[in-house]
Amino acid sequence: MLAVRTEEELDKMRHAGMVVGLLHKYLQQFLIPGVTTKELDILGKRYTESKGCTCSFENLYGFPGTNCISLNNEVVHGIPSHRKLKEGDVIKLDLGACWEGYHGDSAWTYIVGKGDPKDVKLLKETEEALYAGLSAIHDGCHVGDISHAVEKVAKKYNLGIVKELVGHGIGDKVHMDPDVPNYGKEGKGPVLVKGNCIAVEPMLNLGTADIYQLDDNWTICTDDDKNSAHFELTVAVTEDGYEILTRRDVELPKEDIVTDPMKVIEELRKEINGK
Ligand code: MG
Ligand code: MG
Repeated sequence: MLAVRTEEELDKMRHAGMVVGLLHKYLQQFLIPGVTTKELDILGKRYTESKGCTCSFENLYGFPGTNCISLNNEVVHGIPSHRKLKEGDVIKLDLGACWEGYHGDSAWTYIVGKGDPKDVKLLKETEEALYAGLSAIHDGCHVGDISHAVEKVAKKYNLGIVKELVGHGIGDKVHMDPDVPNYGKEGKGPVLVKGNCIAVEPMLNLGTADIYQLDDNWTICTDDDKNSAHFELTVAVTEDGYEILTRRDVELPKEDIVTDPMKVIEELRKEINGK
């Protein structure tokens, strides 16, 4: 039996999700050549905590970072490091926040500066796959309906579907039943009802679907080193569709808008090196 969330629980998830949406907007300001993924991670942790939330992925299963930041051929679970962003990098920010015990989880892919047209196209197509999957959701749908809808878009664009990693149920834990694969058959899999909450998250590759894990025991890369995109939203099933809990149309409060991001980074470097 999948967890059916009460209105009170949904409110907590809406709040966590709103912070995840804000965190995406906040960090987007720092997607500049020269900034390291570790610096993004520190800024992300501080921002999340400034909103009264904890970071859902911090130490989750022993993950050595606060959020997953993956570049280019890395699909997911990239560990924040001292690598510097470069013009044209494809960067995946997979961000989570927890408010009063309830989680929001949302990944999005961005390009640093001006991207290669084939990467721009990959992002557009993977985002389309996410929304196609979401559009299959309603009270009484099967998980397979979502999986099939994602797969159909991926196949239309001849993208590699990562099969080893899946979307998931979410609520008072980040990862719960059911698994939500990015391929499958309509009418198959668990039935979803109003109040179930899931994260739908297509991971699609320009080339092969095959992946491997780096020696760091976390980072998942494409076998052929071609680029990968990842788009994820946390949603609640409603009577006739879905409600996005990690909304992307949130507006950054004025005080969180950064006019000189490199100045913030320089200050952060001084602070870190001064320790
Ligand atoms: Mg995620
Ligand atoms: Mg997820």
